[in-house]
Amino acid sequence: MNSSIIFKSSQENNYLYSTAKKQFFYLHPILEYIYNIEKEGINIPMYLKDLNTNIDIDSFGSCTKENLIYYYDKYLLYRQKGYFGTESNSPSKHKEFTGELIKKELANSVQILFEVTNACNLNCTYCGYSNLYEGYDKREDENLDIDSAKKFIDYMITLRNSKYYKSLKKNIAISFYGGEPLLNFKFIEEIVQYTRTKKHLIDNFEFWMTTNGVLLNKYMDFLAKEKFKLMISLDGDGDQNSYRVDHGNKNSFDRVYKNISLLKEKHSEYFENTVTFNTVLHDRNSIKDVAEFFNKEYGKIPNFSPLTDNGIREDKKEEFNKIYKNFAKDSKQLKYYPELEQKMHFELPEARITKETLTEKSNFSFKNYNELLGNGQYDSFYLTGTCIPFSKSAFVLVNGKILPCEQISHQFELGRINKHEISINFDEIAQQYNKYFNQIAKQCKSCIEYKTCKNCIFQLKFKDGKFVCHQSTSLEETVWSFSKTFDYLENNSRNYKKLVYGGDIK
Ligand code: SF4
Ligand code: SF4
Repeated sequence: MNSSIIFKSSQENNYLYSTAKKQFFYLHPILEYIYNIEKEGINIPMYLKDLNTNIDIDSFGSCTKENLIYYYDKYLLYRQKGYFGTESNSPSKHKEFTGELIKKELANSVQILFEVTNACNLNCTYCGYSNLYEGYDKREDENLDIDSAKKFIDYMITLRNSKYYKSLKKNIAISFYGGEPLLNFKFIEEIVQYTRTKKHLIDNFEFWMTTNGVLLNKYMDFLAKEKFKLMISLDGDGDQNSYRVDHGNKNSFDRVYKNISLLKEKHSEYFENTVTFNTVLHDRNSIKDVAEFFNKEYGKIPNFSPLTDNGIREDKKEEFNKIYKNFAKDSKQLKYYPELEQKMHFELPEARITKETLTEKSNFSFKNYNELLGNGQYDSFYLTGTCIPFSKSAFVLVNGKILPCEQISHQFELGRINKHEISINFDEIAQQYNKYFNQIAKQCKSCIEYKTCKNCIFQLKFKDGKFVCHQSTSLEETVWSFSKTFDYLENNSRNYKKLVYGGDIK
């Protein structure tokens, strides 16, 4: 496979991306000319020998023989260093996971997620657990067993205090997830108290929660006192929120709005600094209307989430398509509202694509210090965009299954917990992942995203025990997104630092 992707920005500047090196660089027009004529089969030393006039090169103008010779030397140096070549210059075998690596990731995992309960006091039309989707365990209003959760916290504390933990400060973030977590408030309260008894072993416990806000009036004092990082789900005003209904099909807006007003009044500083919102985008709202609503009511802009398009039941596709709204298309109308556009700048597609491209496609981007210091081999890679299990979180379900996160089907459990024991076999997990990767490797090897893929394997089609990807990107799509990225950078060069360093490595 050719390892060079050449593309142009709308200001007519050429760039080259080397898939072998995972680097972008500005491509001088003479270098591009040499690369192109060599690709056409011209013998360049002979061509240069016979040349006795200046030649015209697009976006450069008249070029002398001396100039061409100078750039040809440069071109040969680049080739020698692995640019302008083929993928054969770089390793074709991806790295494999090991049990040790996965154990280390769990020890350093950013957060523990507890599915506090799978009961919910709302019945939102588009919920990931609604009948639009398949692949999730049936919800039967169960609660997570408190002793199992405590056992898991103890297990994580032991790992945090072991040789596997790499940071200096020992922090644990606990996220309470549902259903609606506040329906099992007793569990939350008891876990918070339990962490107090462990403070001598951990520097800091941090608590996170996403709530539908219906029960906030009852528990807001506790949440504010314990400084919970709180995210409230709300889709905008009454009409925009009309998919968020209770079991009697009644819109939850009035109750939630009243609770938020109370929270804002009673705990204004906490509300200001710690409370955020999440809005699902669908056919009954729009980015512009929702942003206007939140900006006016709370001086905040919510985080927008698209509807999950993974795992939709075959017979529900039509219904799903009716509700679904595309973020990129919808955000275009913001250009008529400069104040909102400016506020949302870094959330909008151009900035997001640029950030993703710069971080995902580069060899010099590291998600954390472990990644930076851990392998140090710029040219080795893991297949697909699947995270190393537990590197982002460990998710404990009410039925005791342990998963790497809340976004994937429950069939991919990595372990089990009950009040007596925790069973996680790291070597078996590694073997299972490597088996999946080896099964899909043939397809990935012929894909342009081979080393830079962002797809999580668990969000691909899973059939007969194998994953199949229908999301591979074409060369045209890649060139398009690279051109968009460099258009953005040329027009917004001041934002480069903010985009790249937006999240400092922790
Ligand atoms: S969706 Fe996939 S890549 Fe993302 S955290 Fe979950 S398992 Fe990891
Ligand atoms: S896009 Fe699909 S085929 Fe391509 S590397 Fe990623 S998982 Fe493999």
